[in-house]
Amino acid sequence: MPIPTPSASLEPTARHVPAQRLVVLGTGGTIAGRARAAGDNVGYTAGEVSVADLLAGVSDMAGRLPALAGRGLEAEQVAQVDSKDMGPAVWRALLERVAHHLARPEVAGVVVTHGTDTLEETAWLLQAVLSPAKPVVLACAMRPATALVPDGPQNLMDALCVAVAPGARGVVAVCAGQVHQARYVQKVHTYRLDAFDSGDAGPLGCVEEGRLRVWQAWPEPAAPSRALAPLLASGAWPRVELVTSHAGADGALVRALLAASDTGAPLRGLVVAGTGNGTLHTDLQDALVQAQAAGVVVRRGTRCAYGQVVPGPHDAWPDTGGLSPVKARLSLVLDLMG
Ligand code: ASP
Repeated sequence: MPIPTPSASLEPTARHVPAQRLVVLGTGGTIAGRARAAGDNVGYTAGEVSVADLLAGVSDMAGRLPALAGRGLEAEQVAQVDSKDMGPAVWRALLERVAHHLARPEVAGVVVTHGTDTLEETAWLLQAVLSPAKPVVLACAMRPATALVPDGPQNLMDALCVAVAPGARGVVAVCAGQVHQARYVQKVHTYRLDAFDSGDAGPLGCVEEGRLRVWQAWPEPAAPSRALAPLLASGAWPRVELVTSHAGADGALVRALLAASDTGAPLRGLVVAGTGNGTLHTDLQDALVQAQAAGVVVRRGTRCAYGQVVPGPHDAWPDTGGLSPVKARLSLVLDLMG
């Protein structure tokens, strides 16, 4: 199976072609990590192996699976980062390339190789901005490519299978045989191979020997919530910070952010990860009232791993609608840009 790169040179001229091709976009992460010693699963450097090499490593296996045999696979390196360092520059490039390939009639879906640390944020950003009618599948690994028993090749294979599954659409993540929706997916473990979870919603499905078993509806495609062009063009995204309520949270952090706002990039939004059902330490709440009076938009989530804030009649601020604090932060960035 040829794995040509770069993909842009392979675009066909004919418009009436079946959507057969898959594009794999590389952004780095542990799946592309390299360690000095094969047994080392923690002391490696993420984002070293090219996505073309990752794809070449599974091409024989892919050729033997009926769902993937005969499909054109393309690899394109969008970035090569440890996803702990993810941010607007890579996100802009990724949004542009995903949108570009999804618009190609011959492309059935896009797979994105990504680090696990911020995978859920990238997944949510892609879903919130693009709401794609074709599948966009994030693949990752908990062990580097050089591990004695790496998990990346299987995860990549599973992601390719999900991307060609009948009815697949929207942004999902695949890890350890489970498929998670962008809205719900969350990294919940530091080391385990099945490091992701979908909270109360549970996984959308699972992949077994290349076959997908689905338990939930795929995310509904929608008109993109905001024009992609202004998002890509905008130099600096609005500054939205995340604060946590905890014992002794006295609001000093919020006041420091407000003070810094006078000299640096103005603070536009705050997402607060509250205790339990979004409750806040009174002193932190006072500081948030002060921030709101200064024009800062406040949203309230929970630091609980499960459940979502259930709104009450006396809430001071809107809740995050079930989004985790990190995803709610991105949604607020997008709202403030809209
Ligand atoms: N730090 C790595 C990353 O997010 C972790 C991983 O991929 O598992 O890129």
